Amino acid sequence: MLLNGQYWTFIGEWYLLSLRDIASRDQAWSGRLSSGLFGRHNCPAGNRGPKSSTEVIVASGDAGLEWLIRNRFRPCPVCKPHETPGFREKTHLLVGNKYRSFQTFVDPARLPFSAIPLPWEEMLEMTGAPPNRLYVPEDTPLRSLIRLRNRFANAGHSLPPVGCYDRAAPGRFREYAVPG
Ligand SMILES: [Zn+2]
Repeated sequence: MLLNGQYWTFIGEWYLLSLRDIASRDQAWSGRLSSGLFGRHNCPAGNRGPKSSTEVIVASGDAGLEWLIRNRFRPCPVCKPHETPGFREKTHLLVGNKYRSFQTFVDPARLPFSAIPLPWEEMLEMTGAPPNRLYVPEDTPLRSLIRLRNRFANAGHSLPPVGCYDRAAPGRFREYAVPG
């Protein structure tokens, strides 16, 4: 059973650490599993909604940052982790392998953020439960949602509500129907 205030933290390998342990280490980022965005722990956007260990993972130091980018997490457009000094120098090779340009990586207007490409098999095994919702781009085809549902099913979990960010919708979330 997970204790309150502990998070799965990548430091070359995964460890379940308390926030105090995390804070005493290198620079760390929180990755939000519902959106695939990563940012600062005190980000005003990241602090909306629940923050349990099934919603947030932590990546610490250069190894953590590399894990996030390799696994398709994207920088939060509100707290802009990519504007941290040294970030671009540290990451440009890996980002260049994964994205058309650094701008594509950092700008959701060029490439919408999405929970679809995240490594769910690895993460679900660790966290034991899915986050309470998943954000995907507005024009996501149904076949991609069915494939996502199948990945969750193969990992032994049902798909949480999937939808897109919609400022006008209740909870700013417009849910899609995924046929069972
Ligand atoms: Zn943020």
